[in-house]
Amino acid sequence: MKKALHDCVLVIKDGKEPQRFDRESVDFLIDGANCYLEDGENGPKSKVALSKSLYNLMNEYEKNGPTNQLIDELNKFLEPVRHQCFIGRKDKKIITTYVAHLKHRSDPGIFACYLFSSMASLGWLEGLKRCKSSDCQKFFIGRSNVKWCSKTCGSRSRVKKMRKKKSLQ
Ligand SMILES: [Zn+2]
Repeated sequence: MKKALHDCVLVIKDGKEPQRFDRESVDFLIDGANCYLEDGENGPKSKVALSKSLYNLMNEYEKNGPTNQLIDELNKFLEPVRHQCFIGRKDKKIITTYVAHLKHRSDPGIFACYLFSSMASLGWLEGLKRCKSSDCQKFFIGRSNVKWCSKTCGSRSRVKKMRKKKSLQ
């Protein structure tokens, strides 16, 4: 079934072009978290703080779901964010747009929390999981029966398993 509401999130930072995030932008969140997983504190300086916050949020959410503790943490960060919801019409469809106003050079943690909580509450993070390959562990969105983030990780893990089996024989 098609979704009746086409939602998008618009983030306006003072003095900057608005940034639009829709369902496809979930990749932005996932890439950010995976970036921290790969590079840790050695990633590009301008991005480390944001990807670290995204990683921590995703890690907690993937492990334990939306616990009260996570929600409290998000609320604390989101307190300074002013946002509005606009409802409009496009091609006979109702469109809702959430607009957040952030300060220029605001804490990257606030930006991460805002995007994360919007996307999670819009259901865009459903199916969030981590790659079962022990040397990958990347975040991805996949169906319940999918274990690996990519074909490469899948075949690598199968080969590893086979080798282990053989060595035990
Ligand atoms: Zn993987």
